[in-house]
Amino acid sequence: MYYNENTIIYFNGQFVKAAEAKIDLYSQSLHYGCAVFEGIRSYKTASGKTKIFKEVEHFERLQHSAEAVNMPYSWTTEELIAATYELLGKNNLLDAYIRPIVYAPANMGFVENKESFIAIQAWEMQPFLGDKLLNVMSSSFQRPNPKGFKITAKVSGHYVNSILASQEAKANGFDEALLTDMDGFVAEGPGANVFYEKDGKLFTPSVGNILPGITRATVLEICQELEVEVEEKTITVEELKKADTAFFCGTAAEVIGWEKLDDTVFPKAWNDSVSKTIQDAYKNKVIGKALQVEEVVA
Ligand code: PMP
Repeated sequence: MYYNENTIIYFNGQFVKAAEAKIDLYSQSLHYGCAVFEGIRSYKTASGKTKIFKEVEHFERLQHSAEAVNMPYSWTTEELIAATYELLGKNNLLDAYIRPIVYAPANMGFVENKESFIAIQAWEMQPFLGDKLLNVMSSSFQRPNPKGFKITAKVSGHYVNSILASQEAKANGFDEALLTDMDGFVAEGPGANVFYEKDGKLFTPSVGNILPGITRATVLEICQELEVEVEEKTITVEELKKADTAFFCGTAAEVIGWEKLDDTVFPKAWNDSVSKTIQDAYKNKVIGKALQVEEVVA
């Protein structure tokens, strides 16, 4: 479970027991889904200490998300990072999932609020649990239209779309869903970005109709470091089905390969793919290990 009677959370400037923290049932966030959050991970490094991966990027995105939906944001990235390290220490966490959420006060209307509140929760997460390749289903659900939502923001309400898609995929015997954008092009998973590999080159949907993931940016960074060719472009589902292999990437999912999309089994063995090299580089990067350039599969 996420917490027990000893778990401490960061709650509006204080450290309190998770079981004792209260939020207002009249919060606009609960009724209309207008809260913003982050999904962050910390990893135990070789030194035995914990390191929050891309902490600045995550807390900056939290601020961007809040501002995108007109929520007052009164914290600095530095203070929230310091609070998160303190929180990890208080809960004796090294490999953790960290969930900050900014939420609204009591407000049954649609008007702007004068203040926001913040909680940061953290719980233990084992690194790289999901090494099994995924069976992915083309979802009947499309991602939210960027003309209707601020899709670069991680807004709680957007995740109803993710829940619907993920549950549909699981009800049909798949592990996860792949959603298209409002034009029918490949967008992303319910909580992860997508890449495919063809002839040693990687492809991923351009930004515009997706959440620009921090892991996606890290994969692009790794490609540059390893001199793997990568292209951001518009991708059709048919094109994706002709890939050698494909993967999802996200803070929680990390880099996780696909076995198949609908009935199409990807022909390339994961262990022989460039994608696997990217996965290994990501595994090293999160724990602060330098890239092993000789590992590159050309
Ligand atoms: N797309 C969606 C819809 C997500 O919820 C997430 C998870 N935040 C991602 C992509 C991946 O983003 P990140 O790599 O920043 O975790």
